[in-house]
Amino acid sequence: MMDLKNRSFTILGAGRSGVAAASMLKRNGYKVFLSEENPEETLKFFNRKLLLDQNIEFETGGHSDRIYENDIFIVSPGIHPDSRVILKASELGKKICSEIEIAFSFCRCPVIAITGTNGKTTTTVLTGEIFRNAGYDTKVCGNVGLAFSEVADGLKEDSVAVLEVSSFQLENTEDFRPVVSVILNITPDHLDWHKSFKNYLNAKEKIRKNQGKDEVAAVNFDDEILRNDLLSTKAKQAYFSIKKDLTAEGIETGCMIKENTVIYFDKSKNINEAIMETGEINIRGNHNLYNSLAAVIAAKAFDIKKEIIRETLKNFKGVEHRIEFVRELKGVRFYNDSKATNTESLIVALESFEDNLILIMGGREKGNDYSSVEKLINEKVKLLIAIGESKDRITEYFSKRVKCLSADTMEQAVLLSFENSSEGDTVLLSPACKSFDMFDSYEHRGKEFKKFVNNLQELDS
Ligand code: ADP
Repeated sequence: MMDLKNRSFTILGAGRSGVAAASMLKRNGYKVFLSEENPEETLKFFNRKLLLDQNIEFETGGHSDRIYENDIFIVSPGIHPDSRVILKASELGKKICSEIEIAFSFCRCPVIAITGTNGKTTTTVLTGEIFRNAGYDTKVCGNVGLAFSEVADGLKEDSVAVLEVSSFQLENTEDFRPVVSVILNITPDHLDWHKSFKNYLNAKEKIRKNQGKDEVAAVNFDDEILRNDLLSTKAKQAYFSIKKDLTAEGIETGCMIKENTVIYFDKSKNINEAIMETGEINIRGNHNLYNSLAAVIAAKAFDIKKEIIRETLKNFKGVEHRIEFVRELKGVRFYNDSKATNTESLIVALESFEDNLILIMGGREKGNDYSSVEKLINEKVKLLIAIGESKDRITEYFSKRVKCLSADTMEQAVLLSFENSSEGDTVLLSPACKSFDMFDSYEHRGKEFKKFVNNLQELDS
């Protein structure tokens, strides 16, 4: 564990995790200085009052040389490793670490850490639900809502922290050591930041680098890169798969689907347990099966009873804006997938439904390649309603094969979708584009969609 005695800290970046780290260190008696490049008014989580109340020294609108007065730099994920300040700090022999690393050194309870290119939030929230239902004092944190530093030093030995971690945060860790690590999947994302795919993979692997043999490292067996290219870990490896019979593959511990049943097995403990039928899992789509299996492994690492896992998976409604069921009206079901900001996520959503879809898509994009979604849209979508900056491009692209309409507002899009629907249809907002042309964020877009969907009843009666 990092030795913090007599150390002083510079926190670069006053985002939520930076402010939380400064506050945690200060309340534990350390000298801290928080420095932010951007002006205060542009910062979403900047809490001047909290900083002043705690006597935390800070600067905004640029980094002064004062940052080099402290020995440990805690860098926000948004700051590039090649940025001038980081290079200079390294030259001066400063220790560079991420917020999760520092929070971890204050955390007395077991940590379950979840990473991957996609599905982190869903799996983290789901895993947290299972532990909460099993009676653990559970904190779900990381990129979801709370920063790890907001809670780490307050957790007791018998609490559990379920932590969503990004590759950016893993990159600057040394001692971070979760009791359960999960790597969900890996696709060549964020390459500009990590420079190469190998670096990106290495960053993800850091999640399990320090784990010992009594700890569990869960990995997606169906992800070929993860299966083949991961370095070895001392931890107990647990695989999850929705395609393969893992026992036939010679795997010792894992979770898989066999004849529509979720099965958890651990040969060393003589466990082979049918947890539930896949049809009972409330969240939709194959991608969510992966997320569910990963959560089962985390739960089983703590011997949580299958009844609790099953009940949680039966009732878990998913996370807001990710194929979130909104309501059913006159036999038409409405789903909000506003988090789908690219074509990959739209594919995942389309694969989660049968046909008879009314799809609302569009927004801000930079040259989306729609050929990747063409087949699924032709097969499953009966009406496409295009919105936002890309609406003309979208209607031009798809109108030869699919009926297309366009709408100027979300309200109009929702009305058009309902007017053109019949019983048994599904209306899906899955824009495949960013939201900033019409909204503040994807959350704002999703909330607007839900508001107009929920208003429909009044129009109907
Ligand atoms: P993250 O936190 O990694 O962004 P989320 O749980 O917020 O992941 O899901 C974001 C989107 O990623 C979902 O809307 C869905 O399109 C896709 N997704 C979720 N889980 C998976 C998965 N296991 N594999 C592939 N795609 C997924």
